Amino acid sequence: AGGGEIVLACRGLRRDFGGFTAVKDVDLDVRHGEVHALIGPNGAGKTTVFNLLTKFLQPTAGTITLMGADITRTSPSRVARMGLVRSFQISATFPHMSVLENVRVALQRPAGLATQFWRSLSALEQLDGRAMELLREVGLDDARDLQAADLSYGRKRVLELATTLALDPKVLLLDEPMAGMGHEDVGTVAAIIRSVARTRAVLMVEHNLKVVADLCHRVTVLQRGEILAAGDYAAVSTDERVRTAYMGT
Ligand code: ADP
Repeated sequence: AGGGEIVLACRGLRRDFGGFTAVKDVDLDVRHGEVHALIGPNGAGKTTVFNLLTKFLQPTAGTITLMGADITRTSPSRVARMGLVRSFQISATFPHMSVLENVRVALQRPAGLATQFWRSLSALEQLDGRAMELLREVGLDDARDLQAADLSYGRKRVLELATTLALDPKVLLLDEPMAGMGHEDVGTVAAIIRSVARTRAVLMVEHNLKVVADLCHRVTVLQRGEILAAGDYAAVSTDERVRTAYMGT
């Protein structure tokens, strides 16, 4: 796994805020089938890179391509429709709807079927097949009729992931997907992310280096806006500069 085609790439990515350069000369390749970690200390520029990739921020310099198409000047909504989706973009779940209803609603969004949809019960039933597929993919099929509010914290985050998958992303950007989770949920979510990436690509910001070591095929380390090292975890974690700058050894 992790050796597929490059689906998301940036070259010479740079972002200045006034006189301050938050991201500088960043080259990044994310491949189909891989879980790619973006790591680095606070202030390294990880969030800025995510905002640049999803087009929430315009780069000062550099190019971004998504499945071969130049998206450097493309709007955030168009980029999302093209298949680059950041989890929180649509991950607001509705606590008083059931798990299944949450995924149904998410499935309607990309096609903009809402008006037509509410008039037609059969359309609603048709969505259930796809919704159940997504729930099975993330292991929430047994919880379909529970209210979202009644899920555990970990399973709420998994439901958010399912509603994100409803947009049919080719590249999924996850910002600390395991944040605040206990050991058991971390393992469950790691397994889901691994399975999700098999037919897509995942780029994730992650602070837990054990998760990175166990889950991620490739790691890019940022420091003060620049790439310090990139490669598989074994290579990156033994890199002298990474050890000094990031891992404190
Ligand atoms: P990380 O996500 O790795 O913690 P960020 O991308 O949030 O890092 O921030 C990188 C640097 O850019 C930080 O020094 C931060 O203060 C700065 N920065 C981020 N956004 C802005 C902004 N809108 N205006 C000015 N400085 C910013």
